[in-house]
Amino acid sequence: MDDILHNPLRLPEDVDLIRHPNPIMPRLWRAMRLGAANRCPVCGTPPLFAGYLRVRATCTQCHTQLNAVHADDIPPYFTILLVGHIIVPLLLLVEVNFAPPIWLEAAIFLPLTTLLTLLLLRPIKGATVAWLLHNESKADARDAFHD
Ligand SMILES: [Zn+2]
Repeated sequence: MDDILHNPLRLPEDVDLIRHPNPIMPRLWRAMRLGAANRCPVCGTPPLFAGYLRVRATCTQCHTQLNAVHADDIPPYFTILLVGHIIVPLLLLVEVNFAPPIWLEAAIFLPLTTLLTLLLLRPIKGATVAWLLHNESKADARDAFHD
């Protein structure tokens, strides 16, 4: 339990959803947490991605079609938003307090921005795919109710 508190992306080994025979979509935040942790947003089986950012076609456990939704520009948008809100205040703090030469700022902040972007893009895409799958499942349930 302490692992979950210290690392919100880490799940306990005995997640009840992993071997569920008829998986149903978990609540939105749980699904997004599973997606961010590179796990199927429906049943929790890893991996969600086949490469760095390519979503697997289907889940090997619950057979959910994971590539039915397209995240498009949502993950880069949120990644840029988040990285910008981390890097820009840091850059301003360093500039105001130390006023280092521009080459030194570039040597520090360009790699830092790139690294942070690469680290955040994949979990944000996983959470986005989960969010879209969750919306898709709600729409399917609504359509089934009205039929
Ligand atoms: Zn699954």
